[in-house]
Amino acid sequence: MAKKNQIKCSFCGRPASASEVIVPSGVDESTFICAECVDTIHEMLDQYRHGERQEGSADTGASGDLTKVPRPKEICDFLDQYVIGQEDAKKYLAVAVYNHYKRLLQDKDDDVDIEKSNIIMVGPTGTGKTLLAKSIARLLDVPFTIVDATVLTQAGYVGEDIESLLTRLLQAADYDVKKAERGIVFIDEIDKIARKGDNPSITRDVSGEGVQQGLLKLLEGSIVNVPPQGGRKHPEQRMIPVDTKNILFICGGAFDGIERKIAQRLNTHVVGYATDDRRRVDRESYLKYAAPQDLKSFGLIPEIIGRLPILTHLEPLDRDALRKVLTEPKNAITRQYEKLFAMDGVKLTFEPDALDLIVDKAVEYKLGARGLRSIVETIMIDAMYDVPSSDVKTFTVTRDYALEKLRKANFEVTAQAQAD
Ligand code: ADP
Repeated sequence: MAKKNQIKCSFCGRPASASEVIVPSGVDESTFICAECVDTIHEMLDQYRHGERQEGSADTGASGDLTKVPRPKEICDFLDQYVIGQEDAKKYLAVAVYNHYKRLLQDKDDDVDIEKSNIIMVGPTGTGKTLLAKSIARLLDVPFTIVDATVLTQAGYVGEDIESLLTRLLQAADYDVKKAERGIVFIDEIDKIARKGDNPSITRDVSGEGVQQGLLKLLEGSIVNVPPQGGRKHPEQRMIPVDTKNILFICGGAFDGIERKIAQRLNTHVVGYATDDRRRVDRESYLKYAAPQDLKSFGLIPEIIGRLPILTHLEPLDRDALRKVLTEPKNAITRQYEKLFAMDGVKLTFEPDALDLIVDKAVEYKLGARGLRSIVETIMIDAMYDVPSSDVKTFTVTRDYALEKLRKANFEVTAQAQAD
């Protein structure tokens, strides 16, 4: 047992000499609690029992005053600074987030209960789904977290329990349960938990339907026991109950191949004036016609789809958009490199035709926006190595320089392998 003058509160760290009284906590011999912590816990319990964990209290994480909440247009303008294009997705997200705040501020006794509008974003990989989510997080004053659906499995299998999604939110809220209960969770790669094949009984579907059923519980709003450290639940672990009723879920997924399902649906629906209607469909971008039934054909269960009432899509990025991604967003790739060089007192410039070349390569090898970064990195690695030890004050990346560096790094060979 610790000597009396060494005893500290195991919760706040206060030494015995600084507390009115310190007592054994009952957990084990070496765990103590001070009078001040007991008081704090008392207060928290009182609030909890008197229903203050309900909506509308002052420290909600939302500002409690709608005039302080950014309007959908302002949210969109903010997103424009970071994300190129994707107007549809921006608009839907902005409205959903604004309405989320409104729900949080709604009077408890109001007859009209505003239902939450979880969102699902469908779009090819590397088109900005995660970027949108991250950018929105910068603006919000509610806890926000991004989680990956691929790590989740049905209870009893290897992987993380579904409840661990909320662990991350709790962490983002510094374990303030009340705050977490009004947060936003972005679930990435939701398409990876789609049911494989049409008949779920053929094989045991560990990563598919079971996970969706588990997720459903979270989406529809229920009290969920969350393991404070995440991972797998085990019997001795203390759980934190979290009510998901007011948590907004935003899901994103590439849904590879969903275009075919959309095309099939559109074509089979077209009877009579078939040719006209078909011509109107923009074949390049079927995603904009995505509807809940396409998500069902892809393998999401109808109950999940029902809980994600807002469906929006992201467009594939064309050459023009990729060119803008390189230079325009607030933290555009080229700006990041300029900053890195500026820290060494060097002014870095990319010539326009060098930028065109980078975009050409990303398009040629189908690397998308994600590939832009690795291309620039390949081009810049030598300069980043040499310039800090030289007395160079300006550095210009020309098309020829970029080409030479790509050639030297055997870029074409590696990129081709990736594209295949
Ligand atoms: P995903 O749709 O797969 O979630 P990400 O949002 O992770 O794609 O995008 C990967 C990277 O590509 C981002 O970090 C960003 O640098 C760039 N990017 C993708 N789409 C956009 C976009 N619309 N505007 C600006 N940058 C983008």
